[in-house]
Amino acid sequence: MPDSTLPPTSPPTTAQAQTTWHILGAGSMGILWATRLARAGLPVTLIVRNAARLRAYKEAQGLTLIEGGHSQRFDIAAQTPEMNAPIQRLLVTCKAYDAERAVAQIAARLSPGAELILLQNGLGSQQAVARLVPQARCIFASSTEGAFRESDWRVVHAGHGHIWLGDSHQHAPAPWLKELQQSGISHEWSTSILTRLWRKLALNCAINPLTVLYNCRNGGLQQHSDEVNLLCAELSNFLAHCGHAEAARDLIPEVERVILATANNYSSMHQDVAQGRRTEISYLLGYACAAARDAHFPAVHLHALHRRLSDHLLQRGLPCA
Ligand code: NAP
Repeated sequence: MPDSTLPPTSPPTTAQAQTTWHILGAGSMGILWATRLARAGLPVTLIVRNAARLRAYKEAQGLTLIEGGHSQRFDIAAQTPEMNAPIQRLLVTCKAYDAERAVAQIAARLSPGAELILLQNGLGSQQAVARLVPQARCIFASSTEGAFRESDWRVVHAGHGHIWLGDSHQHAPAPWLKELQQSGISHEWSTSILTRLWRKLALNCAINPLTVLYNCRNGGLQQHSDEVNLLCAELSNFLAHCGHAEAARDLIPEVERVILATANNYSSMHQDVAQGRRTEISYLLGYACAAARDAHFPAVHLHALHRRLSDHLLQRGLPCA
């Protein structure tokens, strides 16, 4: 497949200096975002793990986005966390279990009034990052995009989706949403982002662990509907108990709809386990169980599922935290 290469994005003139999008984590989501922002002519800088990864990136001569069978390469600036240039806007695209440590590495570089956009799945990592950098505005995000790394620095945009962004402390929309518009990133500002994240977490808890335990595609859960419904009922009662009734609304029919609509897909957790990769269990089922314990809510089915999944992961040599 021929690559078309775009030149490095030119630095903005002083009169119209634009804030650089620093992107921490050049994996599937990081590359998907970096390339779309750069394609729109916006200034982007990648922050990769270390000097060895920076060398590998330079050898690859940029990032490649593959969309609809067409691939395009972008020569985007990159650096390591140790650089001391200030950061005003940071998109964090590491996995949930890496986010806090990765942000700690660049925390001293954040300018006063810096903004962080946290793309992690589940809950718990966002709050940990927010505690680490109380001086910054932390914007949480929930995305339905689908992307995977074909190889290092090359990403396939597999499913066009939408992203909800919000800040549970300040309801005013972020001032840069027009840059997402300009980049063709379908988005919406949400004044109830925690409800959205809880809803997604509940869907995830009802579907993903069971697909791992039964080693099936999402559609395979139609054979286990009693178990799925028991989990959904418990999740709904728990969410209502914790003041997230809106996130629990009609959970059972929504889970049934998702199972049918994605019947042929393997869940992200199933894919992680099948490929021997660490899962984000602690930020999904683990987070729900910890929250239930804190709220003194007797979530017997969730706890039992967490134990079964943890045992299953340990048997395969994968971390259960
Ligand atoms: P990924 O492909 O594994 O990418 C994570 C990246 O973070 C890797 O490139 C990794 O570097 C980098 N990283 C880790 N620690 C770092 C550090 N200390 N400094 C710099 N970089 C560091 O993961 P992903 O699929 O993009 O997922 C990111 C988050 O988005 C997850 O929470 C996921 O659940 C969520 N999400 C993903 C999708 C999707 O379709 N992919 C959809 C919705 C939500 P190395 O390359 O050096 O390992």
